[in-house]
Amino acid sequence: MSSLFIISAPSGAGKTSLIKALLKTRMGLSLSISHTTRQPRPNEINGQDYFFIDRDIFNQMLERGEFLESAEVYGNLYGTSYPWVKDTMASGQDVLMEIDCQGAQQVRQIFPEAVSIFILPPSLESLKARLQQRGQDDPGTIARRLKAVREEVSQVNKFDYAVINNELDEALKDICCIIRAERLRMMHQLVKQHVLLAQFA
Ligand code: 5GP
Repeated sequence: MSSLFIISAPSGAGKTSLIKALLKTRMGLSLSISHTTRQPRPNEINGQDYFFIDRDIFNQMLERGEFLESAEVYGNLYGTSYPWVKDTMASGQDVLMEIDCQGAQQVRQIFPEAVSIFILPPSLESLKARLQQRGQDDPGTIARRLKAVREEVSQVNKFDYAVINNELDEALKDICCIIRAERLRMMHQLVKQHVLLAQFA
């Protein structure tokens, strides 16, 4: 029985670095690669960071029911492949999704047992600094993103866990603890440990 982990955060909370670090651990998670209509940033690779597609293709996929969830974020469309999530979970692997709050809510409606984690920056100032330092977006985009942050953070109470990304290593440990605890839950252990439990029957 697989688990589904959702990570959401306002932009600039350091989510991308955290997820990269998480994938380097031996937690054995399969990361869902989203589809988006956003233009690739320098260094982003199609099929690795995102599947970059145009609006027509996105809308066709949406109509065919190929997205588990989808949302418009900062004027671009994003969606998670439903077949990929189903196949990956059916093969027994745990899935990790890095999606926004709207998407997180949609996924929870379909998979109520999904575990959702909200990453918070240690302060508004640090978030502003991160957005400016990464130099990926123009000033207009940064201003729009900052405006959206308050709204995103107001959704925090809908998540199961809140992790503060002050020190990357500490935040990573917190996320690993959540994943370990989830995997030890009885509903998973009854399936995984059936051979052990059968010895006591
Ligand atoms: P960025 O364009 O900066 O990579 O991501 C912008 C926002 O879109 C982030 O909040 C990110 O979590 C969210 N996002 C990325 N992929 C998906 C997706 O498949 N679905 C949804 N709902 N949001 C996504």
